[in-house]
Amino acid sequence: MRYGLVTDIHSNLAALEATLSAMEQQGTIDGLLCMGDIIGYGPQPNEVIQRLKQYPLFSIIGNHDMAVLGQLELSDFNHDAIDANVWTRVQLEPENLEWLESLQPKASFDEKVTLAHGSPSEPVWEYLTTPHAAARNFQAYDTQLCFVGHTHLPRLFFLRENEVNTIFGFTLRKAEMHIPDDNEIIELGEDRAIINPGSVGQPRDGDKRAAYAIYDDSDMTVTFCRAAYDINATQELMRQAHLPLSLSIRLDYGR
Ligand code: ZN
Repeated sequence: MRYGLVTDIHSNLAALEATLSAMEQQGTIDGLLCMGDIIGYGPQPNEVIQRLKQYPLFSIIGNHDMAVLGQLELSDFNHDAIDANVWTRVQLEPENLEWLESLQPKASFDEKVTLAHGSPSEPVWEYLTTPHAAARNFQAYDTQLCFVGHTHLPRLFFLRENEVNTIFGFTLRKAEMHIPDDNEIIELGEDRAIINPGSVGQPRDGDKRAAYAIYDDSDMTVTFCRAAYDINATQELMRQAHLPLSLSIRLDYGR
């Protein structure tokens, strides 16, 4: 089976549409795995949820989704995120609210895959950005793979089972971090790995194109990809909705 990995879509329908059509051109997609932050920031929360649900979909929620649902304190967010979350709450159709409320920030998909928004040990808030943090997190889930989001950065962390340091009687496992290129295919084999495909709707690695990945569980590969989309279309809708200007401008820079 081939699964599209999508996360941090943040109500950006133009970015999601470009991602889905790029995926379809690469071959049949059997389903989508979504690591949360479906809404918040962008102008089309209802449309994004409805579009995702047109696929066989397995999804968790992220901190922005939880804030819109009232499950987190808004004061834990910056001003722009608060404004966007309040706006989003007003827009959300009851059926979409209800669907989001049924989701968890961490869930196992099958015997090989766990999904967590931030990290397997702290799925709501942890930003997994270093090999050191990743090494600790391999103990917080028991499948081979964990797909995450939250940092908006495409990253891959491998656990090197054979590379274990013992210091003062403590065991330190080593993890390795890899920053993938566009169209890079990674052979997973039987290695344990924590994988972030990068953000569909608000990339922050300096590449303004939507980021996603394709996971193939028959040959055990993950392919990291980018898709250009109509950024102006999203920005125009954000302007009409009076969403914060800084959230719109950052889409031009992928930061
Ligand atoms: Zn996010």
